[in-house]
Amino acid sequence: MTANLKPEAGLEVEIDAFGPPAGGEPYLLTPGPLTTALSVKQAMLRDLGSWDGDFRAMTADMRRQIVALAGDDGSTYTCVPMQGSGTFAVEAMLGSLTPRNSRTLVLVNGAYGKRIAETLNYLGRDHVVLDKGDYLPPRGSEVARILEDDKAISHVVLVHCETSSGILNPVAEIADVVRAHGRKLLIDSMSAFGAIDLDIDALGIEALASSANKCIEGVPGFGFVIARKDALAAARGNAHSLSLDLAAQYEYMERTGQWRFTPPTHVLAAFLEALRIHTAEGGIAGRGVRYANNRDALVAGMRELGFETLLSNEWLSPIIVTFFNPADPKFEFQEFYDRMKAKGFIIYPGKLTVVDSFRIGCIGRMDANVMRHVVEAAHASLAEMGVQSAAPPESALAERAKLAA
Ligand SMILES: *Cc1c(COP(=O)(O)O)cnc(C)c1O
Repeated sequence: MTANLKPEAGLEVEIDAFGPPAGGEPYLLTPGPLTTALSVKQAMLRDLGSWDGDFRAMTADMRRQIVALAGDDGSTYTCVPMQGSGTFAVEAMLGSLTPRNSRTLVLVNGAYGKRIAETLNYLGRDHVVLDKGDYLPPRGSEVARILEDDKAISHVVLVHCETSSGILNPVAEIADVVRAHGRKLLIDSMSAFGAIDLDIDALGIEALASSANKCIEGVPGFGFVIARKDALAAARGNAHSLSLDLAAQYEYMERTGQWRFTPPTHVLAAFLEALRIHTAEGGIAGRGVRYANNRDALVAGMRELGFETLLSNEWLSPIIVTFFNPADPKFEFQEFYDRMKAKGFIIYPGKLTVVDSFRIGCIGRMDANVMRHVVEAAHASLAEMGVQSAAPPESALAERAKLAA
């Protein structure tokens, strides 16, 4: 496999020297869980008491660092962690920060937007959906029209990077409209926070959710919501659920320094190490540059092989990229997947409903050099399968033309 990668040398800033994953496992080219640093894994070799002062200090330290990453000094916003995967944090945000009699506009252009609408269904909270299909971005003008026509809408929910296609949605454009219309914006920034800068103060965002195992490069086990303190104070009694009550978690954490129920102690220890590396790499800017370099190396190489991306460059995120399956009848995704895995790379199936596709993630402990190996592995896998051309079918290109229209 990736034999000519340099071994892990403890270098944190130079992005060319990570070396292959510690256990010899394949690279996870997936949007979390993802490939983590050896020291992140090693940080978990320690049992911590959830009640103990050391762990309470770790929780406080993490919360402070996350708010700082969001560009706030801690006066307006706070960070409330929530046990579970990212979806638990999103559900806690929705259930706690939208009042029971509220109406929410959900902007959908993929699986994660749909999940938000489905969550509101479970919660029994009134909502309307603007569904743009598999990947077309919601635009400010559309949102403005809906908000003008329906004064009962109090909240808008947007997915920052829609991981199902990899599109980077126009957050600032939507935030401007939502603010101008006096409504509140909630953001699922799960796969973007930590790599893509977002000035929550300036954009007037009510709350944002993310998790430990995406761009901060920790291991899975908790999510967190960065929310306005006044929104949390006003949220008492909104929640549909005891364990997912963000306001109660906040109140308890402020008062005792503890999580309400058993925290993922090892995961927090790993996350603090991941944050240390994130800072050493130059914070959001440094991480964003590395991921963008990963994407650029990947996309350039794959295009050279004849693959086509779903999205034009304007909409490509540095998080994950969707490629169309080749039209060649010898191409079969599962076989391609298995061959890529045998070469050390775990890729990701596509999530488009109209055309066949697959995805390759750009996030995790890896650099552009690794991405060039990914391209080589794709080249070799196609050759082994007898695929002559990586070009997609006409129907895929016709689908893509909708984005330009
Ligand atoms: C990963 C992700 C989530 C959360 O998924 P989990 O499987 O619950 O961790 C939510 N939204 C987006 C956009 C994501 O990428």
